[in-house]
Amino acid sequence: MEKQLTLAEIQDFKGKYPKQLWFLFLVEMWERFCFYGMRGVLTIFMADKMLGLSLSDKDANLKYGAIQAFVYAFTFIGGIFADKVLGFKKSLFFGAIVMIAGNLIIVASPQHFFYLGITLSIVGTGFFKPNISSMVGELYKEGDPRRDAGFGLFYSGINIGALLGGAVCVYLGTSPDYGWGYAFLSAAIVMIIGLVTFMFTKKTLGPIGDSPLLHLSPTKRTTKEIMVYAGSVISIPLIFIMIKNTDYTDYFMYTIGPLAILYFLFETLKEKDHKSRMKLIAAFIFILFSIIFWAFFEQSGGSLALFAKDNLHHNLLFFDINPNIVNNTSNSLFVIIFSPLLGLLWLAMEKKKIEPNTVVKFGIGFLFLALAFYTFYYTRFFADVQGLTSLNIFTLAYLVITFGELALSPIGLSIMTKLSPKRLGGMMMGMWFLASAYGQYAAGILGAGMSSPDDNATLMVKLQGYTEGYKQLAIYALIAGVVMILLSPLIRKLMQEVK
Ligand code: GLN
Repeated sequence: MEKQLTLAEIQDFKGKYPKQLWFLFLVEMWERFCFYGMRGVLTIFMADKMLGLSLSDKDANLKYGAIQAFVYAFTFIGGIFADKVLGFKKSLFFGAIVMIAGNLIIVASPQHFFYLGITLSIVGTGFFKPNISSMVGELYKEGDPRRDAGFGLFYSGINIGALLGGAVCVYLGTSPDYGWGYAFLSAAIVMIIGLVTFMFTKKTLGPIGDSPLLHLSPTKRTTKEIMVYAGSVISIPLIFIMIKNTDYTDYFMYTIGPLAILYFLFETLKEKDHKSRMKLIAAFIFILFSIIFWAFFEQSGGSLALFAKDNLHHNLLFFDINPNIVNNTSNSLFVIIFSPLLGLLWLAMEKKKIEPNTVVKFGIGFLFLALAFYTFYYTRFFADVQGLTSLNIFTLAYLVITFGELALSPIGLSIMTKLSPKRLGGMMMGMWFLASAYGQYAAGILGAGMSSPDDNATLMVKLQGYTEGYKQLAIYALIAGVVMILLSPLIRKLMQEVK
């Protein structure tokens, strides 16, 4: 039998990336295929009058927002159970099984079992998503300067999966030769590939992600684990009801955030080491700022999708292309191209001792966000009399927003793993994603505020409304970036030795 690697042996890797990162990259890539594949077909399936759920556009949008918010909110719960009972590996395994079950249930009859299946997807993603990122963090020793670049690479995997999943599932779901069942089936198959990849490679992770209860007797440990599994199953009808009735989403969002903050305070006060406590507060500040970032960024699934549908010409450089395809794919494509390059840039800057610290990188992320929304605003100056404007400028804005995302999102994952004590790693990663849940939620509200209340408004009026909204977002993003950079000395004090 092969000898199990120790943590020190894993973390003492040579070269730029540890080999285990590639395995986690692949597993996460398949999971994101499944997730973004589902996300891509969700709204159109719900609104499909013939073979879908025949919801009105408005209801389909509301439900889409609710499902997205729930998915990310459950990462907080999944993170806590991983820390306290299951450990990352078992959490991941359980989450993957539940996600596969969810997809297969929908395949059986999309029109009948959709809500049940999607409920399982929510629970499954909650156990899966935060914990795989936490394991990436554990591949690195404290202070290893290669960590950010590692998360950058991991982030490319996320986006390769997102791009493929979005394309394949939407194609299958909307094709007259296949249909919705095939879209969900492909997501299930791909998730099985992800799970099998994990099962075959998890031994290379050595002790990373093992149960936190190894000191207990196996019987006691198993009892606790079974309680978590059983608790998750029991919660399914409750989540099912909340998804079916979107009014409950508001109550849920009003409750989960304050509860999360209370729990965070409880754990922070329980933390005996003063330095660790300060680091947790710094992590919390990053999380708060990220809510603003996602609320703006996630216009892509809402108002920018409508803007793309109504107000853009169909020519990109020398091609004729549907602007919604550009809206759905350009961000992932730019991440895949630029994330590794940016990772190498950070490493090169680190060697020259000129790498910006994490707080400043976050601030830069907001500055790019501001520039991107200013560019979305600027499309109004290229509009013709009908209110149609340039897809080229729109795509340029996506390039700029991607740089903002790359300066904030992978770095955010990385900093969560640097600032969290080991016993709270899953919870803090879950909180990071909980911020995304609030971002998604706020994005819908912001987007609704920008859209014209009159369904028969001219394209010009719609263009004015959206671009004016984007200008406002640009200003707020700029303010957030400047505040972050001004606060950087204070936040860095809280971060102690962490860079
Ligand atoms: N696109 C990234 C992912 O899917 C970030 C998502 C988020 O945090 N909102 O992991």
